[in-house]
Amino acid sequence: MTLPVTLDDIRAAEARIRGHVRRTPMLADPRLSGLVLKMEHRQETGAFKLRGATNAVLSLPPERLARGVVTASTGNHGRALAHAARAAGVRAVVCLSRLVPPNKVAAVRELGAEVRITGDSQDEAMAEVARAVAAEGLTEVPPFDDPAVVAGQGTLGLEILGDLPAPRQVLVPLSGGGLASGVAAAVKALSPQTRMVGVSMERGAAMAASLAAGHPVTVAELPTLADSLGGGVGLENRITFAMCRALLDEVILVSEDEIAAAMRHIHAVTGDAVEGAAAVGVAAVLAGRAPAAGTVALLSGGNIAPEAFARILDGGRA
Ligand SMILES: *Cc1c(COP(=O)(O)O)cnc(C)c1O
Repeated sequence: MTLPVTLDDIRAAEARIRGHVRRTPMLADPRLSGLVLKMEHRQETGAFKLRGATNAVLSLPPERLARGVVTASTGNHGRALAHAARAAGVRAVVCLSRLVPPNKVAAVRELGAEVRITGDSQDEAMAEVARAVAAEGLTEVPPFDDPAVVAGQGTLGLEILGDLPAPRQVLVPLSGGGLASGVAAAVKALSPQTRMVGVSMERGAAMAASLAAGHPVTVAELPTLADSLGGGVGLENRITFAMCRALLDEVILVSEDEIAAAMRHIHAVTGDAVEGAAAVGVAAVLAGRAPAAGTVALLSGGNIAPEAFARILDGGRA
């Protein structure tokens, strides 16, 4: 089967984004023998999403690039797209609903994006994105379900294998599946015997439920420490559902307590604060659901409010 994103696409993405994103380090976990941490939470903007957003922006033909890009995301994708657009010297518009808290609005503005506030729901913010695309010729850069975005995230797979050519398995946080699709496409092409495992939280794992059902389904969104893993896969999913179905060997779900314990563990061994979404792979190892030996756990992001992280370190969950 030919997948919508190939090793060649990922290699092209790597060449395109080189110099625009950091190559992040790998660290052998001193307490879990054989486990290696890919420290992508140290990426510029605090998460891997800069890779996909930068590749998407730099892949646009000049006349479309000149008009700018648009998204409705306030999270790591919104930050990444704002940063990538500013670096390319073009406009980024972020459409938000009136419900988005002022600190998040300010954070998007600080990254140089133009904020447009409309309506009372994420759906209305999405409708404004569609309007901006139709009326102003802006290009929407989606958070995961897009070939250029997936290819950009896949550059992480090349980096991991560059440092460790044939790991036994790679544990990747899983939400919409852009990260898992890209990393798995690279890893399976170069090291077919490496197991690719997606890890999500028990509370609201949309891709896990979709893979089990055999088609994209919606699940209730619940509060979770892994807030960057919330949200659906899209009932009209174009590429990431099929790629995850073809490339993932397993999906593991972890509890809130397991995520909190993993955040404390990662802090103890690296000194870094990571967000809940980034800790799910280590959570699976600590909980005994994945072996440590020969395993790479991808730490996907570090964007967590200091007060929230301090509460986790104190032993709380949220
Ligand atoms: C977006 C995100 C994920 C999940 O990525 P998908 O491509 O949606 O599966 C994981 N961790 C962090 C920190 C993220 O921002």
